[in-house]
This record gives sequence, C-alpha cells and structure tokens, in this order.
Amino acid sequence: MNLILDEFTSLKVSRQRRYQLRRERDGLCRLCGEPVEAPSHYCAKHRAEQAARMTPDGLKRRRRRKLRQLRQSRPVDPRDLI
Ligand SMILES: [Zn+2]
Repeated sequence: MNLILDEFTSLKVSRQRRYQLRRERDGLCRLCGEPVEAPSHYCAKHRAEQAARMTPDGLKRRRRRKLRQLRQSRPVDPRDLI
C-alpha cells in the first residue's frame, strides 16, 4: 500500500476530492497543478475556462448537457433541473 498520510487521509471524500484539497492547500491549480492566481482555485488558463462556464451562454450549455444525460438514463424528473 502506498498511502499518503496527511490531514486529508481520513476524510470521507473521494480520492479525486482529496487530491483537489491537497492542491488547494499547496496553492496549486485543481486541474493541472500550476500555481494559482489568487483568489481563484485555478491557474490563469483554467481560471479563464471556468469563467467561461459561468457566463449565461456557458450555463445554458451546461444545462443542455445535463438534460441530454438525464434523457439517456431515465425519464426526467423536474426536480433534477433546479
Ligand atoms: Zn490549471
């Protein structure tokens, strides 16, 4: 076993989330590990990508994708769309 022992080891979160938390602690981008631009969790490149996702157009795209996923898996429950 090759465990990393630190303050995140015992947290009941996914490995992915622990990885993000460690990078956050070290001041690195969540996605690529480059130094972040404060006050973001991402480097300059990924910060721009993230910002694009939060524009009205980006949110529309996100919603469409979610709808598509739901349609493929099971009938859409309106409560899922909130
Ligand atoms: Zn990055």
